[in-house]
Amino acid sequence: MKIGVLGGGQLARMLALAGYPLGLDFVVLEPAADACAAPLTRHIQAAYDDPAALQRLAAEVDLVTYEFESVPAAAVQQLGASLPVFPRADSLATARDRRHEKNLFRELGIETAPFALVHDLQTLQQAAEQIGLPAVLKTRTLGYDGKGQQVLRNGDSLQDAWDAIGQAPAILEGLIEFDREVSIIAVRSVSGEMAFYPLAENVHEQGILRLSTCLHGDSHQALAEDYAKRVLERLDYVGVLAIEFFQLGSHLLANEMAPRVHNSGHWTIEGAETSQFENHLRGILGLPLGSTAPVGHTAMINLIGELPHAPAILGIENTHLHLYGKAPRVGRKIGHITLRENTEQALQERISQLKNLI
Ligand code: AMP
Repeated sequence: MKIGVLGGGQLARMLALAGYPLGLDFVVLEPAADACAAPLTRHIQAAYDDPAALQRLAAEVDLVTYEFESVPAAAVQQLGASLPVFPRADSLATARDRRHEKNLFRELGIETAPFALVHDLQTLQQAAEQIGLPAVLKTRTLGYDGKGQQVLRNGDSLQDAWDAIGQAPAILEGLIEFDREVSIIAVRSVSGEMAFYPLAENVHEQGILRLSTCLHGDSHQALAEDYAKRVLERLDYVGVLAIEFFQLGSHLLANEMAPRVHNSGHWTIEGAETSQFENHLRGILGLPLGSTAPVGHTAMINLIGELPHAPAILGIENTHLHLYGKAPRVGRKIGHITLRENTEQALQERISQLKNLI
């Protein structure tokens, strides 16, 4: 069985690593010559909207998935005409645009931050009056890791913020004084079987995820699963879906969803019975899903911009190093570390120890 992946970054690389034990082969379509999934897969180096390359990919594989949501809709349409593409095209279309995503959450009774649509300076002015400041201006599409976002505080120039996001269609969202940020990784198979991982608590810095900790028996787990189930069922979703929430008291406000394996689920590689990558593959292939039960107390630390001293990291017991084969560059995710311990306290001690090393 051959799986095609649109995108050849670390998520495709980790999908391949999870898929080889299942006897799967991978072909990635990715424009960058130095794609980090390339050494593990057959790499078609071309633009995502290159019709000839898409045709070649379709001829070589049995099924297509993707590792990022900004895939051109025309590419998914072309591939979908001749073979299964999961998650489905309309799941992708919903998740790639904050307007559709937020409207879906609202329709399903899932709480969100207050928001208003912005398409010019005048609608930004109206939105600021309606939502109130502080607020965050976010481009509707193509934003990630805090890119395409501007926080507006009292007195800031709306014109400057509007220019800073490239005057692109946007939403203005109330700035939430959340207690914590959490995310749920959910998976639904072609057969409709569903599974949910324990919530992860996520710490971001400058919009980039730094630390994810798997929560055991969190009081918000049932609500997060209920919300995720509503989305999965409404979209007839297939594969892994991540939903990020702001937790405020007993409320979970959905921030955004990703129709793919997600950085806040990397802890599952060593920290769950079945990783998010394996369960994504099982889901899209219609195989029974694997257990999402946690194995011990686990956290994941992202390696951003700089390679750590590997012997020092690996010298710490129960620590696993994942490097993506990417050249270090400021703000770039080049790997992650997973830690697994028997108790919550031991885990917190290890996290402090590691933080001093990276
Ligand atoms: P996003 O790209 O929407 O996931 O935003 C990246 C990060 O910016 C989030 O994980 C939060 O840490 C922060 N952020 C985004 N939107 C808001 C908001 N409305 N209120 C507070 N913090 C936010």
